Parts: sequence; C-alpha cells; structure tokens
Amino acid sequence: MAQLRQVNLSTKELPDKWYNIIPDLPEPLPMPMGDKQIQNLPKMLLGECLKQEFSQERWIDIPDELQSIYAQAGRPRPLFRALNLEKKLGTPAHMYYKSEFFSPTGSHKVNTALAQCYYAKKEGFERVTTETGAGQWGTALAYGSAMAGLKCTVYWVRSVYNWKADRLDLMKMFGAEVYASPSNKTECGRKLWEKDHNHNGSLGIAISEGLEDSLNDPKAVYTLGSVLNHVLLHQTIIGLETQKQFEVFGEYPDTVIACLGGGSNFGGFAIPFLGDVLTKGKKIHFIAAQTAAAPNLQGEYKYDYADYAEFTPQLKMYTLGHTKDMVPVKGDGLRYHGCSPILSLLRNKGYIDTVAYPTDEKHVFESAKLFVRAEGWLPAPESAYSVTCAIDEALKCKETGEKKVIAFNISGHGFLDIPGYKSILGF
Ligand SMILES: *Cc1c(COP(=O)(O)O)cnc(C)c1O
Repeated sequence: MAQLRQVNLSTKELPDKWYNIIPDLPEPLPMPMGDKQIQNLPKMLLGECLKQEFSQERWIDIPDELQSIYAQAGRPRPLFRALNLEKKLGTPAHMYYKSEFFSPTGSHKVNTALAQCYYAKKEGFERVTTETGAGQWGTALAYGSAMAGLKCTVYWVRSVYNWKADRLDLMKMFGAEVYASPSNKTECGRKLWEKDHNHNGSLGIAISEGLEDSLNDPKAVYTLGSVLNHVLLHQTIIGLETQKQFEVFGEYPDTVIACLGGGSNFGGFAIPFLGDVLTKGKKIHFIAAQTAAAPNLQGEYKYDYADYAEFTPQLKMYTLGHTKDMVPVKGDGLRYHGCSPILSLLRNKGYIDTVAYPTDEKHVFESAKLFVRAEGWLPAPESAYSVTCAIDEALKCKETGEKKVIAFNISGHGFLDIPGYKSILGF
C-alpha cells in the first residue's frame, strides 16, 4: 500500500460539538470593560453568540440543521501529508496541512459566517452588516446570508477594495451590498471620507461603520468574523476534525502553526490542541505567523478597543493600539491591531510563540511558490504566512535531524489573489 497522503472523515464523523476552551484556561479570561459599550452589546451581537461569548460550558452543541449546512459547504475538509514538499525540502520532518481552502468562498471564514447567519435568521433579523479587510470575511458573510435568505451589507477597507475586483464581484453574485470604507454611508466613515476620498481605511474604521449601520436599523444585526470568543468557538471545528484525522494517520503534532490576524483560523486550528496541552499534559510548540505590518502579538497586553471609533467594549488583548496606522500588505487579512483575548491570555502565559515576516512579502510569497510547485494548492496570501513558517521550521529540522511532526493550517485559497502574487513575485 502506498504511503497515506490524505485523510478525510465521512459526514457522519463531522464534529457535533464545538470546543470552548474558556473553562480550561490557566486563569479566568478578563471580562470586557466599558459600561456604555457593554450595555450596547445585546444590540451589537446575536443573542446566541452573546451567550456563547461568556459560556463556561466546555462543549457546545452544533445545531443539527447547522451540521447539515456545514456538510453542504463541503465539511469535513481533508488533512494532507505534504510528502512532495518534504522531499523537495529534504527535511526529516513530517508535514501535514489542513485544507480550509476547500471552501465555497475560499476561506475558513464560512465556518462562523454560516453559524452566525443561521442564528440571525432564527432570531428574526432580515439583514447582516459587517466590515471586511482582505475581503474573505465579507465574501463568507455574503455567501452565508444568501444561504440563510438574509440581506447583507459589507464595509470594505478601501486599500483592498481597490484591487480585488473579482472578489467584489463574487460578493455581488451572492447579492451583497458593498461599500469602500471609509464611506459616506455612516457618520463615522463620512468624517474621514470628507477629509480624504481616497483614505486607505483600516479594519478598525470599517468595524465602526458596520456597527453604526446596524445600530441604526432594528432589523439589522452586526456580525464579526474574528477576535471574539464565539467566533473562535465556531472555528474549533477545524482543529477537532484535524485531531480525528491525525488519529487515522497514527501521528500527533509537535508543532502547530497558523497565520494570525485577529486569531480565528489560528484559534480554530490550535485551540483543540491547546486543550490537550492544558488538560492532558501534551507538549506542543504553537507558532502564530504574522506580518511585520501588524505584529500584534509583539504589542502590549492591555485593555483596548476592537474598533477605531470606540463603539466596542475594551478587551484585554495584545494590541498595537486601536488607532494605529498599518501599511497595506497583500496578506491584508493579517493587518489588524489586536489579537483575540483567549489567544492573548495564552500568549501571555507562554503557550504561544510568534514570528512576523517583513512587509515586502518576498520571503512569504517565494515560500508559497515553492509550496504550489510541490503540492499544487495555491494558498491565500494570508495562508502563505502559515506555509512559510512551516517550511522554515521544516528546514530547521533538516539542520538538526529532528523528525518533528509539523501541522499547519491553510486558511484559504488564493485564486482571487493572483494579482497580489504577481505584483510581489514579478512574473
Ligand atoms: C481573515 C483571514 C485570515 C486572518 O484572520 P484570522 O482571524 O486571524 O484567521 C487568515 N487567512 C484567511 C484566508 C483569511 O480569510
């Protein structure tokens, strides 16, 4: 029998619960701060998501209907052994990657978009609003709302809106209304837009616009695609599947890697394994791959707002400051000032290591090219950071001769990001 290269699960083996790590954390998770903003929370978040945000239940049921929606979106997704890449690198390490790129819109973000749209419909809303940076979250929500029969409004960071024409059209295909942010549609956007019609925007500003829009319309609800506890909870389906798949491979990871912007794909992939470390005494090296444009895990661990205009409560997190200007990069989904509170706490306790790659993105995209030519799957620009980190770790193993098992998440595909690759690699 040839060597096992891919393991997938049957739809019957799809996890039927998400894993909530909050009760297993080494310390209680610091609560959000800010009376006015906390009072606003029930108007900002879906009821079910708000409940999950502060839940102390270790396992939370995925509703049957949502399990079936996940199956329709192609879950479970395969775990691959990167045999070609290992050979090309000449590494003794065993490399495994999870394929979140098998997604109707191109990323892992559908895992929470489908859940949030499902709850929004159940709770009687007619429209969802949001921000998007790289465009992946906006596309995922546009798709999720189409599946649930909801309207969708997206505020998209202008520096990215301007160059991702195909992704814009894909959102429109799903029926979403999309505005470049800062826009003239909201009060907080208009102030910036009037000063500079070509304002680059930022995720923080776009969040403020999405929130303001929904707060002014009782039929609309705001949704967030990263950072918050309930978003990471929904994403744990990635790591829970991966754990079952590793059992079939008969291995267990020494190193777990994912790229990190706000923390949702890193959290989704790593949290079930972090649970093993916290409750079962496993030893794993976790590495978050970031851009030097937004190395939030190297920032300060303190209370800060999640958005530019200070609509959100303050969260205890690693942050660069919520008004920080950050240079645009092609892996724009990684350009956010703060990291999820759950992951920030674990980083603060020494469980999570981090690396930040230079903003010229040459090393990252060259590594992605190597990966594509070995394995055939084109990662999203953000996922290229995860791939790069995995390759760098595998090359360290080549020097030391260690046969580490390296697991990395590929959060999305790059089919709509070829112009970004082309501008950096110059082909
Ligand atoms: C949004 C996004 C990211 C970064 O966001 P996280 O919440 O940190 O996961 C990474 N990869 C892809 C493909 C994305 O769409």
